[in-house]
Amino acid sequence: MNLEHWRNWVDEIEATRVEALLDRASPDVRSALERSLKGAELTPDEGFLIYTARGDDLRAVVKCADIARAEDVGDEVTYVVNRNLNFTNICFVGCQFCGFKRQRWEPDAYDHSDETILAKIADAVARGATEVCMQGGINPDMPAFKYRDLLVTMKGRFPEIHVHAFSPMEIMYGARRTRMDYPEYIAMLRDAGLGSIPGTAAEILDDSVREILSHKKVDVATWVEIITSAHSIGVPTTSTIMYGHLETPRQVVNHLDLMRSIQKRTRGFTEFVPLRFIHENTVLYRRGLVKPLENGVLDFQMYAFSRLFLRGWINNIQTSWVKLGADLAALTLKAGCNDFSGTLMEESITREAGGNSGEFIAVDVIEEKAREMGRVAVERSTLYRKLYGKKAPNGARPIIAHTSPQPADSHACGGSGCG
Ligand code: SF4
Repeated sequence: MNLEHWRNWVDEIEATRVEALLDRASPDVRSALERSLKGAELTPDEGFLIYTARGDDLRAVVKCADIARAEDVGDEVTYVVNRNLNFTNICFVGCQFCGFKRQRWEPDAYDHSDETILAKIADAVARGATEVCMQGGINPDMPAFKYRDLLVTMKGRFPEIHVHAFSPMEIMYGARRTRMDYPEYIAMLRDAGLGSIPGTAAEILDDSVREILSHKKVDVATWVEIITSAHSIGVPTTSTIMYGHLETPRQVVNHLDLMRSIQKRTRGFTEFVPLRFIHENTVLYRRGLVKPLENGVLDFQMYAFSRLFLRGWINNIQTSWVKLGADLAALTLKAGCNDFSGTLMEESITREAGGNSGEFIAVDVIEEKAREMGRVAVERSTLYRKLYGKKAPNGARPIIAHTSPQPADSHACGGSGCG
């Protein structure tokens, strides 16, 4: 179904009273939604019903997710001015869903020098960035202390920039290479300037699925250990899911249940980011293991379910313009989302996997998309402090688009890769 269909669909839901939508929902869905609207926590079985809702049930779910979003975080749509920076695309891991990795002998393999990295950050800072989001491939030639040394170099030149970097997969690799345990290794990175960690490399936290997606990747227990180690020493992380490939609805519910239980223990997650799987150019698709996903239903199910299931524990639900495109992402602002992600400035993992949403979104466009949804966009820091009225060093607007294309070397933070 096309975008126009979904636009009309969310408009119709918005124009209909919640009581009328609940009246049309099936009894079990209605009961779960009523409990959620009263602030009760959804059980995993209720979550399953909510996530798999269709037709009138889904309309009621989306309406209640929008109400919960308004009650819990208000009407402002936040975004961060950031740059994705992927220092290398050389990787030996071989995830079946990744179109980004290269072997070191391939002609378009790269491993950026410190000078290139610093130049990219200088450009981002001049355009108003407060954050650099940095991830890369798992390079077998990497010096053991490379991640720490990168941080020292970056923070030495740009002490103000927030460095949001190194997925749990990279943390696992770095810790192994330095023979340190996770708390010790993450503390070393923190002391070198690491501000927060992307909760990527999560995909679906179910080892049976992970074995097919990428059997060399960090397993569930290790992902949880790394994330909770970070939280325990005061390093916040995001949390993510990659949906729309091999997973079952029950595995999705279990994944969110795990996120919620970690958050209850640590309070270390800043946000939850559902990331739709982009199938083209991936081994999974070429082998016929996944089918192309239709735009819309699963996206609305996922975002609305996330809002309601994580309610009270993870209240920032981020939509992904990179995965959905800016127009569909804007519509998810009426299905429970309150955050529009970042400007990124570069993004190539999704593009290399076949996605066609660009590598940069200007603040003007984010503001326009929020306005179209009857909302106001507000810049935030990585850790969700609202930055009302911030100005970029080079002008009155928080960020300006470059007129010339930027080099395409990036790998999305919050992308489905390293990652
Ligand atoms: S997702 Fe990350 S770890 Fe997996 S192959 Fe791609 S770059 Fe390597």
